[in-house]
Amino acid sequence: MLALCDCDNFFVSCERLYRPELRSRPVVVLSNNDGCIVSRSAEVKAMGIPMGQPYFQIQGLLRKKGVAVCSGNLVMYKEVSMKVMKLLSRFTGGMEEYSIDEAFLSLPVAAEDPLGYVSGIRAKVESWIGIPVSIGVAATKTLSKLATEMAKKDASGVMEITGRNARDVLDNTGIGDIWGIGRKTAEALNRDGIYSAGHFVDRDSVWVKRRLTVRGLMTQLELKGQPCLPIVAGTAPPKSIQVSRTWGNVLESFEDVCLAMTDNVVKAARQLRQDNLAARGMSVFLRHGYRHHGEHGYIENDVYFDSPAQCDIELIGAVKSLLGKIYRPGHGYTQGGVTLRDFSDARFRQRELFDEGGYERRSKLERFSRAVDEINGHFGERAIFPASLAVKDKKWRPNRKHLSEKRGGFVNG
Ligand SMILES: [Mg+2]
Repeated sequence: MLALCDCDNFFVSCERLYRPELRSRPVVVLSNNDGCIVSRSAEVKAMGIPMGQPYFQIQGLLRKKGVAVCSGNLVMYKEVSMKVMKLLSRFTGGMEEYSIDEAFLSLPVAAEDPLGYVSGIRAKVESWIGIPVSIGVAATKTLSKLATEMAKKDASGVMEITGRNARDVLDNTGIGDIWGIGRKTAEALNRDGIYSAGHFVDRDSVWVKRRLTVRGLMTQLELKGQPCLPIVAGTAPPKSIQVSRTWGNVLESFEDVCLAMTDNVVKAARQLRQDNLAARGMSVFLRHGYRHHGEHGYIENDVYFDSPAQCDIELIGAVKSLLGKIYRPGHGYTQGGVTLRDFSDARFRQRELFDEGGYERRSKLERFSRAVDEINGHFGERAIFPASLAVKDKKWRPNRKHLSEKRGGFVNG
């Protein structure tokens, strides 16, 4: 059996942990630069204030209703998240940290009463750490996701989908509420007469595969209780991807360093997409001074994205801005590298809490990056590459004789 443990109103719960005076008040947490609401306490949800609402639009109402407003503090939330995950890992056979506030748990085979078992876990997380959670139990990840949604609406905070109640649950769940079925897909399925998850599982699997590719088929099987998506317990995907290089020349200008590092990040990003991952964290490092002073220097900086990134354009932009912070003229850089980390599965990504309308834009960019990968897979490594790398004099290349400049096709980057 699997379970999904999801922290309730996670950011609000974190704020309440450190500021007990907020426990008796309605609370919202705002995104970066206090842009919009990304977490709401139960009282605020009951007021009908939606997730993602821009703060400036609702400031007056929040004041009138006595709602406490907190600016988001991702560093603190991450710390609390680590505590929760560490505790959860003590009670499971295997565990996959799915997001900052969710983890898939594989329940010990010996747990004869899964619901009772997860009730115990829930009570411990609440009393030992102080964070309320909801836990859904089922045979597959997709069903446990659904069970967790039900658990959130139940006072017990736990819920199980079994062979007995599955059909009923699926018939009462909109197709758009299924994990892995996005809004566009749901609309398309509606046009085919599929409105509920029940309608979806009744469709012929060949039709589903043709309509939604193998990913859709996997979702359908999972809804039928056949596990297709394993719990990835810390082993399979890499923890980080690093691409670094000692350059053929000492690089002096900011432009040259940028180009060299763009080359690195493009390679790292391709690897990332091959592994179906998206990165939340990135760091860059530069080494300098080998030849100039007989000593070397090392400088590093990092960034934490609000939403996991995997496309070239986004990552190149982030590299440039990090370099802007660490580059110093006259240092003579000899080596540099990019590290991507804090990965999540890019295939089943949800709309992110701190993502302000960037979801659609990002999906487009990702599809674009994947198309580029595919073309390069067919026509050779560099059939298409960022225009910024299309310079004649690639000073960073260790051996410039092997440049292949024959193929055209440039994209902005
Ligand atoms: Mg949550």
